[in-house]
Amino acid sequence: MNNGFIIELHPGMDPLDILRALKSEVPSARVVRAPERAWVVGSGSISPEVTAGLPPVRRSLNISAPYPLASREFQAESTEVRVGAIVFGRGSPVIIAGPCSVESRTQVLSTARHLAARGCQMFRGGAFKPRTSPYSFQGLARDGLALLAEARELTGMPIVTEVLDPGDVELVASCADMLQIGARNMQNFPLLREVGRSMKPVLLKRAPWASVSAWLQAAEYLLVEGNFQIVLCERGIVASENASGRHLDLAALVQLRKKTHLPVVIDPSHGTGDRNMVVPLALAALLLGTDGLLVEVHPDPAAALSDGFQSLDFAGFDELIWLHQRLQQITPKPRRNDP
Ligand code: PEP
Ligand code: MN
Repeated sequence: MNNGFIIELHPGMDPLDILRALKSEVPSARVVRAPERAWVVGSGSISPEVTAGLPPVRRSLNISAPYPLASREFQAESTEVRVGAIVFGRGSPVIIAGPCSVESRTQVLSTARHLAARGCQMFRGGAFKPRTSPYSFQGLARDGLALLAEARELTGMPIVTEVLDPGDVELVASCADMLQIGARNMQNFPLLREVGRSMKPVLLKRAPWASVSAWLQAAEYLLVEGNFQIVLCERGIVASENASGRHLDLAALVQLRKKTHLPVVIDPSHGTGDRNMVVPLALAALLLGTDGLLVEVHPDPAAALSDGFQSLDFAGFDELIWLHQRLQQITPKPRRNDP
């Protein structure tokens, strides 16, 4: 069964001509424009009689997945996502680390300095925090963004930080190199649209309740805005077994390689909710060929204002990097584009 179709145009063709010709037959059809490329995409399938009546197009394909643009059926080669000089999806994992929340200048800068010295490639830290309780620390907001910018200046590491509200996308995008959509907001459709339109690289976390298909359909919301710079982040799904109530779904990493061309990173901090499990699961993800790791690190986890119980201290991060480097020496480099 087909769940979607994509009509790819020749360069310079006006997609609106195709859309007009199709609209009565396929009302779901819509135009997707990316730099130098355009498509008409919709749900359901498109029959050869309909395409025969259209102006000549580059290719027209029916897709079985309900996330046509995110699927490998549409694009066989892996997408490379660039954040400054950092590239996700090129065969070697990108290490992203930093505190859960930006708390103070000293905390942020000391952490960034330590991580950069150990070869960490990107810095993370929340300035706008999604907290279960309204009484918990909500983040330093604008002041937090300024501290993240200072950390980038000091170390050269690009910054990824969460945006919670569609109205803050412009503000957060003016500081961050990559926008994080948090697990709770994976299906916040106005936020997805706004972040898609920003054309900034996006880290799209999986909601704990979401199937892989629902997650990829969330990515599709960004793709239809023409934003293909998406990295998926697995961060644990609901489980009844563990004390933390979470289960890091490493099987999804293997499944996703077949289903999508988008890079996938693993977050063993939120995925386990337990700092003692972070390094073992990070290593498992590296062995499975993850495109990156996202790890929470705090100079004094016991004093952290959020997620201290799952944060590594500096020595814990050093151990992870040491093991990662040993693994790189013994594991063959995964072949690129190998679904
Ligand atoms: C975070 O990265 O600090 C965070 C809140 O993550 P998640 O959305 O996965 O809970
Ligand atoms: Mn956190």
